[in-house]
Amino acid sequence: MSKGIGRARRLVLNAAAKVNLILEVLGKRDDGYHELVTVMQAVDLSDRITLEDADVLELASSPGVPADGRNLALRAAMALREAAGVTRGARITLDKRIPVAAGLGGGSTDAAAVLAGLNRLWGVRWPAERLEELAVELGMDVPFFLRGGAALGTGRGERLTEIPSAVLGLVLVNPRFPVSTAETYGRVTPAMYSDGRRARTMAEALARRGAGRVAASLYNGLEPAARQGYPQIAQMEAALMAAGALGAMMSGSGPTVFGVARSWEQARQIRGRVARGAWECWAVRTLRGPAIRIRAGGA
Ligand code: ATP
Repeated sequence: MSKGIGRARRLVLNAAAKVNLILEVLGKRDDGYHELVTVMQAVDLSDRITLEDADVLELASSPGVPADGRNLALRAAMALREAAGVTRGARITLDKRIPVAAGLGGGSTDAAAVLAGLNRLWGVRWPAERLEELAVELGMDVPFFLRGGAALGTGRGERLTEIPSAVLGLVLVNPRFPVSTAETYGRVTPAMYSDGRRARTMAEALARRGAGRVAASLYNGLEPAARQGYPQIAQMEAALMAAGALGAMMSGSGPTVFGVARSWEQARQIRGRVARGAWECWAVRTLRGPAIRIRAGGA
């Protein structure tokens, strides 16, 4: 396709990370996945993604992240191109800020941003429901990022119900090493299963917007599995609590942990106390709105 006379069209997007305020493993399914009940919450630590109209489909990524067909952002673009019968390409540039294999859904949010962005750049104009159907084929967390805010996820985590969310100050701590999701799930035993009732308590805590209630309701059934391999998880949580966090928990399959602060100001103080050479720390706010935001775009 000719680029024509004008300049290439270009979109710049922010793709936010998530934490799991609740992650309950109910059991193992026949399809090999685990049955989950989770409360996912978008937070304002974001990758930046640039999409430019191009003849071919290609991706440039940050160091340490594959730039080939293993990259979820490129897979998302290929899936939309095929499903919508698009003949154009795109140049995708990923500027990673979210740590990789960290339990924060980095690859999934990139995939959601590429779906939402190319839906617009290519003029596909699919409604949200249709994009969500494609999203779930890429990964169970991808549909959540097309929405943002807070959501209850059931099934494999992909069946979503929106829940009211509060603006909370959190502190994320990452030990600067990756942990594979498969590795953590591989250590899960039936003793780590629970009944799914904690999610309701969390939804109520969020509705009342009380940081103390949210902190007291945190739960992650994968944490014992991750702690077996990585003692740093308990150490990072202890450091958050010692620095004044109201509660601390691992996100997703780890190894990132997060602490709940009384306020944004306190989140920044806690971050200052916990930040050490070996750990990477962020003070973040929870997002009540979309996880994917278009920062700039046009001709
Ligand atoms: P989740 O919380 O959904 O399990 P995660 O945050 O733990 O995800 P990711 O950062 O998505 O994990 O990375 C998981 C794996 O996916 C890594 O091995 C990484 O190389 C690969 N990957 C593929 N695409 C991406 C991407 N766009 N960003 C980061 N990692 C990616």
